[in-house]
Amino acid sequence: MAAKASEKKTDDKKKETKKENAWLTYSDATRKKLEKLTTDYKAFISKCKTERECVAESVAILEANGYADLKDCIAKNKKLKAGDKVYYNNMGKALAAFIIGKKPLEDGMVILGAHVDSPRLDLKQVPVYEDTEQVLLDTHYYGGVKKYQWVTIPLALHGVICKKDGSIVNVNIGDDENDPVFEITDLLIHLSAAQMEKSAAKVIEGEALNVLVGSEPLKGEDKEAVKANVLKLLKDKYGVEAEDFLSAEIEVVPAGKARDLGFDRSMITGYGHDDRVCAYTSLVAMLEVDKTDRTAACLLVDKEEIGSVGATGMQSLFFENAVAELVNLTGTYSELKVRRALANSVMLSSDVSAAFDPNFPEVFERKNTAYFGKGIVYNKYTGSRGKSGSNDANAEYVAKIRAAMEKHKVAFQTAELGKVDVGGGGTIAYIMAKYNMQVIDAGVAVLCMHAPWEIVSKSDVWEAKQAYVAFLKEM
Ligand code: MN
Ligand code: MN
Repeated sequence: MAAKASEKKTDDKKKETKKENAWLTYSDATRKKLEKLTTDYKAFISKCKTERECVAESVAILEANGYADLKDCIAKNKKLKAGDKVYYNNMGKALAAFIIGKKPLEDGMVILGAHVDSPRLDLKQVPVYEDTEQVLLDTHYYGGVKKYQWVTIPLALHGVICKKDGSIVNVNIGDDENDPVFEITDLLIHLSAAQMEKSAAKVIEGEALNVLVGSEPLKGEDKEAVKANVLKLLKDKYGVEAEDFLSAEIEVVPAGKARDLGFDRSMITGYGHDDRVCAYTSLVAMLEVDKTDRTAACLLVDKEEIGSVGATGMQSLFFENAVAELVNLTGTYSELKVRRALANSVMLSSDVSAAFDPNFPEVFERKNTAYFGKGIVYNKYTGSRGKSGSNDANAEYVAKIRAAMEKHKVAFQTAELGKVDVGGGGTIAYIMAKYNMQVIDAGVAVLCMHAPWEIVSKSDVWEAKQAYVAFLKEM
């Protein structure tokens, strides 16, 4: 009887604590692991500020953990068996990692997916110009940004310049403490009477997002001497000409490292939590799972912020092609097996959620909102207006996820993106659902989403990783 009573008490406690702040549940040992994970994560997002950098670093991490390049296996027709680990690097901007399961691929995969592109400003193809002895770089913004947030902050340039001879120059200026930084100007308040009357959408226009990069003229040059000086520096340091920007991808991103936020250091402010916080934790979860019944997959994709289009976005067939190669290398290829492998899969489509912001309570509906410290967020549906464009996961699938989370004592919450009709958003979930697989949106709650510096709770980062491990083991 006593045992029963205490069992009941535990159950009640569990119910009460479902929405309990996750911080209150951690042992000292867990806190240590949490601190290690979030320290590593801060280092990852401080170093990786483009999709290319995220993929390169992820490949390095995977290789260090015994993953082989699937392209090598394809070239050598090397057969794969349960427990083998491979990755498929798609053009250096998207990545699929697999742990081959004991069961055949036709039984489906357990898939984690997230995106590694983040909102930013891209340099135009012809970016460099001089105006009144200042040199500026013209940009075109990428993804949904509040343009006024990108002025008067230190900026860095990350990317590649691809030259005609086939060589590639990696650009990374502004994040080393000895580097210079760059900046977009805003109008001084003293002369802003007219500007201050404008709407926030117009106060800084897209075409005005020009990055200041130089002001010293080259001696002995009569025409556009400041531009000539900047181009000379680029030629001397990187061996590139102005024309080489035609075949370059340079991203203007906030300069500086991700840092602890708050007296209690419970949060992280950093660039690109959307969606590297889900990407990094998904990758770490893969490393923590050694063998799985069904094949485990982790997808880190590009172009989500602009509709998942292009060869490196989720709408590309690269993942389907990689699965076809796996079917071939684990047995005999057939299209039917590929279709079954995809249709029988389950997926967590991970992307960040809007965290409740007490400064803007009017856009949230408190019962169906994500909060800091309450764990990974499941969004049964996203979309806008009448759930338009939403994947809307099946209730049967949501029930299985709940059971897996509770079994592994993972803190989780459910949420919508704000009140009905105040806005909306989408993810890669609906694209994967086309294969007839079960997909649900999941992720980490973020404050200031899409701002140069976004904020997450360390405990939510930890719970996301725990959730991904639980998903890979249970589903
Ligand atoms: Mn996102
Ligand atoms: Mn986003």
